[in-house]
Amino acid sequence: MSSRLEISDLRIAYGASTVVMIEHLVVEPGTLAGVIGANGAGKSTLVNGVANWSRAEPRIAGTIRLDGEDITSLSPEEHVRRGLQLVPEGRGVFMGLTVEENLTAVAGPSGETGRKAYAVDDVYELFPRLRERRSNFAGSLSGGERQMLAVGRALRMAPKFLLLDEPSIGLAPRLVVTMLQTIRTLVEGGLTVLLVEQNVNAAMEVTDVLHLLERGRVVASGTVAEMRNDPRIIEAYLGASHG
Ligand code: ATP
Repeated sequence: MSSRLEISDLRIAYGASTVVMIEHLVVEPGTLAGVIGANGAGKSTLVNGVANWSRAEPRIAGTIRLDGEDITSLSPEEHVRRGLQLVPEGRGVFMGLTVEENLTAVAGPSGETGRKAYAVDDVYELFPRLRERRSNFAGSLSGGERQMLAVGRALRMAPKFLLLDEPSIGLAPRLVVTMLQTIRTLVEGGLTVLLVEQNVNAAMEVTDVLHLLERGRVVASGTVAEMRNDPRIIEAYLGASHG
């Protein structure tokens, strides 16, 4: 089920302004890679661009490979069919449907794919809160519950690679930990994940590798242990007490 993503010479531009420039970035199978960086660094543009999902229709040049296949110009639907699933920031649920309707409205591909298709009950196992809210409209959920539902919907489609854009945004600190631990559990189960996370300390608890994005470029990459000691990370994100 594990899957490898390889990004080469990626340039993403809105009009004349190039906001993502990545020479080479690999997410190894069965790992959890984090993308961190300041507001406007290009994190969302990167993950949306990988999934070829954006209303703003940026120009995308370069090569994105999923398990060796060039998927750069494929539609979002074709990505989903191949098991690449994006959970965009603050989106991905139907507000006018109940939690359960949101989950039953989507399903994985038919036929044998070798990927784990999550039943609705599997999603409830992962997020017990959603079971309690199964009859509530998604529009009435808290921000955190909505994030859980968005991840749950993505899992229903039997992904092998998940792109998660700030799944912990708006969550109470306790729920941030729960959400990220749940994502870690999914990775232990074989899923490969590229996670955008503003909360660097929280990201360090669960990721294998971190990439620091500044003005669209990867300026530092490494294991959590390496990144914890990187002066740029300490200065900008961890504060003097971690030095
Ligand atoms: P945040 O943490 O605030 O979500 P981010 O790191 O995800 O930020 P992006 O949203 O990817 O950053 O934005 C990167 C740059 O691209 C920013 O300068 C932003 O203003 C610009 N940008 C984003 N969307 C568009 C758009 N639709 N049209 C033009 N410029 C855009």
